[in-house]
Amino acid sequence: MNNTKLTFDEVNEALDYNELTGELIWKISPGQRYKAGSPAGTWKSRAISTGEVKSYLYVVYKGRTFTASQVIWLLKTGEWPSDTVLFVDGNTRNLRFDNLKLPMFPSKKTITAGVKSRKMSDSAQRHYGLKRYYGISIADYAEMYHHQNGKCAICGNPETVKLRGKVKPLSVDHNHTTGEVRKLLCAQCNHLLGHAKEDVKILQKAIEYLNSHSSGLPVDDLGNQAPQTGLADAAQTSGLNLVQKE
Ligand SMILES: [Zn+2]
Repeated sequence: MNNTKLTFDEVNEALDYNELTGELIWKISPGQRYKAGSPAGTWKSRAISTGEVKSYLYVVYKGRTFTASQVIWLLKTGEWPSDTVLFVDGNTRNLRFDNLKLPMFPSKKTITAGVKSRKMSDSAQRHYGLKRYYGISIADYAEMYHHQNGKCAICGNPETVKLRGKVKPLSVDHNHTTGEVRKLLCAQCNHLLGHAKEDVKILQKAIEYLNSHSSGLPVDDLGNQAPQTGLADAAQTSGLNLVQKE
């Protein structure tokens, strides 16, 4: 099978996922055979290593074939799965998100494909890290990610900071006093809160400070500077009589 990955945006513009039924639905018409609103994918049977025959749903998109579980993983977590997506209950027809998981350690296939050690995969580390540090599962994270459209809750942009050549996932922001998980933030905004010691007063002061040192023009409620007035208007407001009257 083709190993080329899809991006979240590519999939998100074409497919909808109903996590309760596990169905993938076309948002667009990807070809003459499918209309927007119709279920995506074709079921194919395949013998697994034990000799058992199982059905897998395949989605053809942009001329490439992907398993539905890969596509769903990407849609829900924003990341292409680093390994074979497994089915918690062993039923490959159950594509509900809570039935999907990544192996805790890289599968044999991934190891022979170039991974040298039986180190935990990035996604698995994230899964177990999220549980340990924030008490949330990768499914909870995916839910938050989906809800925020993959964007930071403060600046509204996707993450840009890279880790080992790959864009990092958005950070889980939590209240360091209560431990309560807030939202997902980009690394910059997360650091911003950290540097300000999560202190609203400091951040408020910083806003006032920046405003008072902007070009001196009045700032409206939305923080936009008023348009530059003409010299005559400026003179009038300042009480100077620069304009000759006849
Ligand atoms: Zn941000």
